[in-house]
Amino acid sequence: MRYEAPSSLEKAVALLAQAPGEARVLAGGTDLLVQMKTDLVEPELLVDIKGIAELRQIKEEAGGFRIGAAVSGAELKEHPRLKSVWPGIVEAANLIGSTQIQGRASMGGNLCNGSPAADSVPALIAASAKASVVGPKGRRDVPVEDIMIGPRRLSLAKGEIIASFLLPPKSARTGEAYLRFIPRTEMDIAVVGCGVCLTLDSRGVCSAARVSLGAVAARPLLVAPAAAALIGSRLEDAAMQRLDAAARAACQPIDDKRGTKEYRIKVAGVLARRAAQIALERARKS
Ligand SMILES: Cc1cc2nc3c(=O)[nH]c(=O)nc-3n(C[C@H](O)[C@H](O)[C@H](O)COP(=O)(O)OP(=O)(O)OC[C@H]3O[C@@H](n4cnc5c(N)ncnc54)[C@H](O)[C@@H]3O)c2cc1C
Repeated sequence: MRYEAPSSLEKAVALLAQAPGEARVLAGGTDLLVQMKTDLVEPELLVDIKGIAELRQIKEEAGGFRIGAAVSGAELKEHPRLKSVWPGIVEAANLIGSTQIQGRASMGGNLCNGSPAADSVPALIAASAKASVVGPKGRRDVPVEDIMIGPRRLSLAKGEIIASFLLPPKSARTGEAYLRFIPRTEMDIAVVGCGVCLTLDSRGVCSAARVSLGAVAARPLLVAPAAAALIGSRLEDAAMQRLDAAARAACQPIDDKRGTKEYRIKVAGVLARRAAQIALERARKS
């Protein structure tokens, strides 16, 4: 196996694009190294991206934030402004693993590992984040919900790397939240995860919303009917019931040791309501 640690994105892309056999990006390694140790993957080339400055920065840009794809959860938490503007994103990334894991694990790796239960992904989708994808044909911006197409399957072409995530400017009276349910108190994979981002108008009526569910289908979902249940309402009980029903209707989960299909569907509705309530409180305060 060959290990390369290029200092530029162009060099990383060229290495990946020209590799004859299986080549993998190495960010924090908290998924990849475990998979290599258990022989799930056997790359011929590892391209370590942690030495590439663009992938390690958090910048305020065009009224929003650009977060390098290899920034760790711990670095996100320590950014002076990010947590106050996008608390749901930072909280989601910091649900990943333990303190040690958070020192390494990136949101780029969380998305590109291709797990439907990845914690930061529904939060990014709800926030309308775009992934900046760089490859042999140049750079393109892709909504995060379009990156993963199934378990371990991505829409990225050979040689393409996610360089960063762009969070848009946050309009007034906007709040967001991510919640997950796990069988243990820490260090477990989500049975269901839910991200909600909503905006209120000056009268306190919801004027825009996005709802995303994780771990209930083959890929994280953007659930438009769940958002529609909130828009035009003040998130009173009837709207929350409609949200619960829409979230449940979107689920196509599997049975596994963490929960049955029926259980996951029920939890999806409950989490959607709870995440919407937190997003509402944050929107009122923002
Ligand atoms: C003990 C433990 C607990 C965990 N708990 C959680 C949890 O609670 N929630 C959760 O969601 N996950 C959890 N994970 C999984 C893992 O930590 C996360 O998915 C993490 O975010 C992966 O990031 P990474 O930087 O370590 O990725 P890596 O392992 O470096 O990479 C993962 C995959 O993505 C690819 N990749 C990485 N970056 C890019 C990029 N920029 N562009 C293109 N491809 C890329 C790699 O080639 C690899 O295939 C846990 C893992 C462990 C070991």
